[in-house]
Amino acid sequence: MKIAIAGAGVAGSYLGFMLQKEGHDVTIFESSKEESHWAVCAWGGSRNILEKFSKNVGLNFNEYIFHVGKKLRMDLPNNKEEYLELIGLVTYNKQKWEHDLLKDLRVKYNFKCSNSFSFMDYDYVLDCTGLHRSLLPKSTTDFIIPAYEYLIENPDIPSNNEFYVIGYKGARGYFWYFPIDKGRAFVGAGDIDRKYYGIKEFFHNNPSAKIIKKIGRPIRLAPPKRMEPFFNKNVIGVGESIGCVFPLLGEGIIPSLLCCEIFLNVLDKSENFDFKLYRNLVLKKFNYYDDVYKIVRLKMEGKLSTIKHFPLMMKMYSSMKKDEKRFGFEINLDKMNRLVNAL
Ligand SMILES: Cc1cc2nc3c(=O)[nH]c(=O)nc-3n(C[C@H](O)[C@H](O)[C@H](O)COP(=O)(O)OP(=O)(O)OC[C@H]3O[C@@H](n4cnc5c(N)ncnc54)[C@H](O)[C@@H]3O)c2cc1C
Repeated sequence: MKIAIAGAGVAGSYLGFMLQKEGHDVTIFESSKEESHWAVCAWGGSRNILEKFSKNVGLNFNEYIFHVGKKLRMDLPNNKEEYLELIGLVTYNKQKWEHDLLKDLRVKYNFKCSNSFSFMDYDYVLDCTGLHRSLLPKSTTDFIIPAYEYLIENPDIPSNNEFYVIGYKGARGYFWYFPIDKGRAFVGAGDIDRKYYGIKEFFHNNPSAKIIKKIGRPIRLAPPKRMEPFFNKNVIGVGESIGCVFPLLGEGIIPSLLCCEIFLNVLDKSENFDFKLYRNLVLKKFNYYDDVYKIVRLKMEGKLSTIKHFPLMMKMYSSMKKDEKRFGFEINLDKMNRLVNAL
């Protein structure tokens, strides 16, 4: 089949590789120039899952790992700290991972897909443009929060160099410090109120930290249930473009890859892509993300009641507990309750 992919991010590069491997005629269209194409992200994810997806495309994930986390420290608004045991959370060279997949693919850089794209030249056009969702109609229930981050180099790496997060009151955002390699780290924040608490403080406490890159891009929190339609004529959305992000954190690498897996399975099943089956499987897979999203929004609006919404919170806990390996950090009921109460 002749397939066009808009966007060479995690979903676009993975799908491009897999589809070409299966014998399809694939062209990727990427809006950035080749020399400036950057994998916008903090490059954090669970090795338990990323190992599997890397294996599918013939990559050894160990070669991409930068930092293996042991504990994540979270500062809470009540001046308390919480520590999460990490069971697979790593940072990895996402930039190289994607670019290694793109190496033998036909990629047209500096090509911004829009509604004037030559859709009819292809059997299917995949919207893998992430946050932009450039080829699908806008969703009326989308929800994004402003965010930016710095790639920094710090010669005075703190001795406790580890994943570090500050949760904001009302779950209105968070600050992150994700260590990568050789004193480099991502320091950033997503914040509905655009105050980005933690960033200024970080540079004040780490005066020798040098900024290598500033990256600005909002984070989508709306899950698939809020991001319909998933397709329009021969355009099919895969990845963050259809809300494959975990709403508590805006974490989207693994959800996007899981969405790619669903897409490939549906495509394999019959000659004509079964749009309805794809929609149902995506909604089923990410069903509990909507519970998480509801909790986040209730918290943001100051309406979350630990009594009234107890069943919803327990549903979120049990779904996340089942998926613990995929998150790469412990899912602990006491800690989760303390966290929800403190935020
Ligand atoms: C600051 C920040 C930090 C993050 N940190 C993490 C993290 O640590 N872990 C995690 O799991 N998730 C993180 N995320 C989310 C994660 O990066 C995304 O959810 C994930 O990359 C989505 O994959 P995707 O392939 O769907 O889209 P993307 O990876 O965003 O790729 C989309 C691609 O499409 C291109 N594009 C856009 N518009 C067009 C167009 N019109 N035509 C052609 N090309 C186009 C873009 O240039 C880009 O290359 C972070 C997001 C942000 C903003």
